[in-house]
Amino acid sequence: MTDRGLPQRRITGFFLDEHGDWVARLECGHTRHVRHRPPWQVRPWTQTEAGRASRLGRRLGCARCAQERSREAGVS
Ligand SMILES: [Zn+2]
Repeated sequence: MTDRGLPQRRITGFFLDEHGDWVARLECGHTRHVRHRPPWQVRPWTQTEAGRASRLGRRLGCARCAQERSREAGVS
């Protein structure tokens, strides 16, 4: 998935899901997986506390917000 065209939301925290994958919590209240599964998805920064801390406040595109926005606009 590309971030192009998605609303950009700040990362407010991280937590592990039930499968041990890292999930970013976004300021809008939604969440987004930040999986590290080389060679397909490479995010070595998720593997360390310092790496995750360095990403706090950065923005990620939120697909959920984009969906809600298009629903409000009457596009289904
Ligand atoms: Zn959102």
